[in-house]
Amino acid sequence: MNRTQISEIKTLLSTPKNIIIVPHRNPDGDAMGSTLGLYHYLKQYNHNATVIAPNDYPDFLKWLPGDDNVLKFETQVDESSTLIEKADLIFTLDFNAYHRAGHEMAAVLEDSSALKIMIDHHQQPDDYATYMYSDISMSSTCEMVYNFICMLGDEDQIDATIASCLYVGIMTDTGSFRFPATTTKTHQVIGSLIERGADNSQIHNNIYDTNSYSRLQLLGRALQNLKVIPELRTAYTTLSQEELDEFKFKKGDTEGFVNYGLSLEGIIFAAIFIESKQDNIIKISLRSKGEFSVNEFSRAHFNGGGHTNAAGGRSEENLTTTINNFISILPRYKQELSNPK
Ligand code: 5GP
Ligand code: MN
Repeated sequence: MNRTQISEIKTLLSTPKNIIIVPHRNPDGDAMGSTLGLYHYLKQYNHNATVIAPNDYPDFLKWLPGDDNVLKFETQVDESSTLIEKADLIFTLDFNAYHRAGHEMAAVLEDSSALKIMIDHHQQPDDYATYMYSDISMSSTCEMVYNFICMLGDEDQIDATIASCLYVGIMTDTGSFRFPATTTKTHQVIGSLIERGADNSQIHNNIYDTNSYSRLQLLGRALQNLKVIPELRTAYTTLSQEELDEFKFKKGDTEGFVNYGLSLEGIIFAAIFIESKQDNIIKISLRSKGEFSVNEFSRAHFNGGGHTNAAGGRSEENLTTTINNFISILPRYKQELSNPK
């Protein structure tokens, strides 16, 4: 984003506008933290801003300030569509293509004549936005929203509320400041957010220490199901719909499970396959260490994408067939997986 674009955006935002802010479907900490952080910033300028999430998100994000005012497109289609049609400006945050908002919402976004601003750190972004702040080297969209506010000259407008929202997404997308995209700058931003009032210890507690007993039991099952293919340095696990039901699965319960496979010594590629009878698909989460790109792997085989070391995908086959496909594809990557850079 260059200086001219920043000054154009500054002019745009100098008078109150109807603004919609959209995260991706199945929003995570970075998606909700960044949209709500930006929402509170825009509210300071008396914009008529609304966050519209494509669908619901996990309970561990419901304490975020502004949560009460978030609309969910899936269950509030009419109200959401009207607001999108009336919008002067739409921010799309933490995603790179309309379809990541889900097909129904994507169509409404595409039809809207509002000016679009994308802020995102995913690879291969689509070219729909009037203003695009896309940087795949960034730890998180929350770090980018922090930069965006600074670029507008408003660092001092970041209060405890905005800081808390932005802290959440940086923390969750970096695996609590440990993934390689965590830079000196990331830590400086985090330092500034704490200075401005983000209660770091309380936020970690709100996100990570609010497990239900049944979620931990479900994790136990995922760990029991874990399989390792040592020669390909790969670990994968599964959860069937029956298992999810047995442990009273709620949205967000499987968040982070895929990382356990990656914590095994010597493993550089981990996957989890989760059956969804409702969507009639297998949801896939892929993680890697080093240069093996799960973004490319998912794009090539599982209709998804994301980042080099973290991506999502889906399969329309049943769980057994999906796993068999996965296992049969892996040897093609033998060179990359067994001799990683
Ligand atoms: P997760 O496995 O947690 O669902 O997703 C991992 C990362 O990949 C997240 O940054 C998520 O936004 C991204 N991602 C998940 N599914 C897709 C997809 O279908 N397409 C793209 N481009 N990114 C995805
Ligand atoms: Mn993100």
